[in-house]
Amino acid sequence: MSLLSAITHAPCPRAMTALVAATLAVLIDSALRPRDYRALLNSRSFAGIMKLLSTFTLVFLQVAALFYLITLLPGALRVILLIFSAFIIIIQLSYWRTLSQFMTGTDLYLAVTVSGDHRIEAILSFFKPLVLVYALPYVLILSVLMLAPPVSGIAMTIALSIVPALYLLVSNYILFHHVAERSYHLNPLTSFLRAILHCRFESRRAYHGPRDELPAFHVTQRPLDSIIYVIDESVRGSNLSLNGYPRDTTPFLQSLEARGLLKNPGICAAASSFTHISNAYLITGHNEFPDTAYRTDKNPTIFDYAKKMGYETIYIDINRVYLASLKKAAGDGPVRSLDRWMNESSFDELNIDLDTTKDVGVARYLSTILNEKSGCFIVVNKKGLHFHYRNNYPDDVASTIWKPVMKFSQSIDPGATGREKLVNTYDNGIRYQVDEFFRVLVSETTNQNYAILYTSDHGQTLAEHGQVYTHMKTDQEIVDVPGFFIASEWYGKKGLIDGITPDIKVSHLNNFATLLDLMDVPMPLRVRPYEKSIFALTAEDNSERYYMSGSLHGSGDYEVTSIPTPPGDGWGVSRPVGNNAKDYL
Ligand SMILES: [Zn+2]
Repeated sequence: MSLLSAITHAPCPRAMTALVAATLAVLIDSALRPRDYRALLNSRSFAGIMKLLSTFTLVFLQVAALFYLITLLPGALRVILLIFSAFIIIIQLSYWRTLSQFMTGTDLYLAVTVSGDHRIEAILSFFKPLVLVYALPYVLILSVLMLAPPVSGIAMTIALSIVPALYLLVSNYILFHHVAERSYHLNPLTSFLRAILHCRFESRRAYHGPRDELPAFHVTQRPLDSIIYVIDESVRGSNLSLNGYPRDTTPFLQSLEARGLLKNPGICAAASSFTHISNAYLITGHNEFPDTAYRTDKNPTIFDYAKKMGYETIYIDINRVYLASLKKAAGDGPVRSLDRWMNESSFDELNIDLDTTKDVGVARYLSTILNEKSGCFIVVNKKGLHFHYRNNYPDDVASTIWKPVMKFSQSIDPGATGREKLVNTYDNGIRYQVDEFFRVLVSETTNQNYAILYTSDHGQTLAEHGQVYTHMKTDQEIVDVPGFFIASEWYGKKGLIDGITPDIKVSHLNNFATLLDLMDVPMPLRVRPYEKSIFALTAEDNSERYYMSGSLHGSGDYEVTSIPTPPGDGWGVSRPVGNNAKDYL
């Protein structure tokens, strides 16, 4: 206590308090998260040590500057800010306990752009009560800032805040340009501020102009067929019995395959382990990682091509993660090349009840459209199987095939019993959100001139190697996604689909040109060097299937990884729970 009274009576009591609190905070952080500090000490070169010392000092002064700014506030505001800071610390430590890092700019971007459901589910899936114990020392140190004497007058407060505020801005700009996003996080609060500013700097640099136009082309009549592109959410390809999974998760899809109506080239490698990145690549056909040239913002979309070929274009967005940005870009005007944009509220307006799991209701609606007219090009971003899985299938005996299952908002426990419940719950979800979706769609459609291309944005870890996260990392099981065609009885280009070369290795990047082929887009109209279509792939293509995790435009942390040929152990295989063969049935 004598130390505290010494500080508060020092010549610059607020600066001293901030410095002492910052020192304590960094000591606590290094004690609680030693691995992050050991990683910093790995460099032995002179330049490496100089960079370590200068960046460490720069970030330490950020902690002090932020704390100093807090001490400038009047008492009541200071209390409010400290409570808010405690909340941020809990979120940051939850992230760190789950993903071994504080929030990156990308995580923050997702947190503010994704729909409400996803945000709440993400917070629940990351939060564990133990985090409160970790957060306590950080919060105690922050409370030291309460001791600093208040500033007299608002003018004085503003005058004293200019330098530290400017320092935070400029030093974060330096970090944005020169220091890997993953390094030098000495405090959860300054790290959070760094992520916010990273997003701001990134967005200033981003491309905000219109997309490239397609060359002029005139079609004389509306196409006779319809094409549906279904992009699922969090569906792991190897959990479908269609792909050899030992549990009967997709009996309907297998019956379609037996009747020659489904063509399955096998597990596809997703473009990314993040929803928004996969969707950006799928919708724009971009094929380089990361997207430093902002091609995913400049390329014409798949809707532009469909419109040019005379299709009526419809987008059904239940997931609301990536393509909502197209809507935002359009302001109050129509989204370019899109005749109809539908989300959950559009269904409410039409008095169509999608029920709680959404997808099967969407399947029913799709069959209505197909039965009413031809010449539609429809993209669906399904609700799919985002964690928590239990919310994605009906809570009844008939839909609970594999038991026991997880509770509705339980977090992931990678232990044997926890994993058993996790996989059971997920497999029940696959049976409903994937197999039942297609059963309803195909059985209720009488029009027989349509094709469906199906994939998922990314897969799931299913705690296979003890992971407590579901996706957003580089693990190969996260890019294990389904990829198949359903072609109806009288579909005009059935021959193209039936002629797919055996043993090819498909990536998300092949889907764009595949859709162009299905739409008969002539070569001179294809303005970008897209990857080969699935119809053009041979067994020699795609010997490495690349994918990316992290920052879409490469401004922050990102990693580009690949699935080689032949693949490593365990690629395209999912391990169900239980040791007994009968457990799988
Ligand atoms: Zn996703």
